[in-house]
Amino acid sequence: MRLFEGTQWDRPPRCERCGELEGSCTCPPPAKTMTAPEKQTARLAIEKRKKGKTVTVVRGLSAEENDLVTLLGRLKTACGAGGTRKDDTLEIQGRHLERVRDLLADIGYRVRG
Ligand SMILES: [Zn+2]
Repeated sequence: MRLFEGTQWDRPPRCERCGELEGSCTCPPPAKTMTAPEKQTARLAIEKRKKGKTVTVVRGLSAEENDLVTLLGRLKTACGAGGTRKDDTLEIQGRHLERVRDLLADIGYRVRG
């Protein structure tokens, strides 16, 4: 039996935030200056993408002041949908205005849209 068999050290290192292997992780470094959610306003929109796909877009939260990777994970879980981050913009596949609004408001963000 290996020393670390069955423990977390027995696996290749993965990013704690996105779950990717560290070599293929593209997470930005942790936010340096976190700003209180109450002082930020998230702007929501439903937009069309290629091939008629609809996405729910979150703008207005900067990756420098928020842990957008973790936030995206929570949004994906809450919506039961896939999603991506492009710089300061989060996109969730499908129409999820209500759930996105609820989750962001729960965390404390002000929400428009
Ligand atoms: Zn990562």
